[in-house]
Amino acid sequence: MIHPHHSALEVVIAIDIGGTTVKGAAVDAAGTVVARHTTATFDGGRDAYESVLAIARRLVDEAAAGGFTIAGIGIASPGLVDPESGTVRFAANLGWDGFPLRQLLEAEFSVAVSVGHDARSAALAERAAQGAGASGTDAGSSYDAAYDDALIVPIGTGVSSAVVSGGVLVEGATGAAGELGHMLAVPNGALCTCGQRGCIEAYASGTTILDRYREHGGTIASSTRAIASALDTDPIAARVWADAVDALSVGLAGITAVLDPAVIVIGGGVSAAGDTLIAPLREAVTARLGWRSTPRIEQSALGALGGLIGAAIIGWADRVPDAGFARQALRSLGPEQRGASDA
Ligand SMILES: [Zn+2]
Repeated sequence: MIHPHHSALEVVIAIDIGGTTVKGAAVDAAGTVVARHTTATFDGGRDAYESVLAIARRLVDEAAAGGFTIAGIGIASPGLVDPESGTVRFAANLGWDGFPLRQLLEAEFSVAVSVGHDARSAALAERAAQGAGASGTDAGSSYDAAYDDALIVPIGTGVSSAVVSGGVLVEGATGAAGELGHMLAVPNGALCTCGQRGCIEAYASGTTILDRYREHGGTIASSTRAIASALDTDPIAARVWADAVDALSVGLAGITAVLDPAVIVIGGGVSAAGDTLIAPLREAVTARLGWRSTPRIEQSALGALGGLIGAAIIGWADRVPDAGFARQALRSLGPEQRGASDA
């Protein structure tokens, strides 16, 4: 398919930076992925930026070898991100503090670079996958309007969220809206990487679920996915999973009380657990919201790929692809890859 404004041989380089892996793909304007790579964020003494650079160089080289030109680079980064300057103001999991990511990548590759927040990038992708048109709010005919009042919750190495209210992706006064992971769930509870105690992320991220399982003496399961599969047979797995669900339910009930979302979408690698996570979570949130109805709580169709597909949408910038883009990217990346990261 030839995009009306572009050569069919153009791609953007999309990169999703996680605390565990850096995922990258070269994606054309129709959403077709022509190359992809994933690497550990920290590997052999390499820092997060060196990993981003390694992935970007490899994708640029492969795209060039395939006859493609690079239309831009889109990055989804965790932490506090300033999309205007492309600076990552703070990202604890990456060791970045005032890191000029866009400036460095533009100097390196001489193409336009856009940097967005990972959860908000995932929200762009989730809305696009539901049929949102090019502007997001300019909805296509098949668009599910529930996504105009939605909470998108990627759960991977960390717990994040993006708030969509009245069709607007909320950034907050300082760009730090949606930090669900650092909302208090357990007063004086477990120490979090942010320095606070009792944060949701200290109980419910892919990393902390596994850490807590080991701290409580669990030895059978060696991954968060294995813990989710062992709830009926391993009491330690059942306990840390219940704690994660409980911590999440505190946050989701609180946000529901304030913002009244129509749908809560659970994404990221941990969402691959499916109903093992979604069903008890729905029950726990409902139990905390006896006075009102519970919003839809659903497993993301994009899973761990939301941030990467969102990075591709950001990379195409104002030339944003049509509503089929996210679905084509998902088909192209393979739904079996949905849970393949950070969990
Ligand atoms: Zn915290």
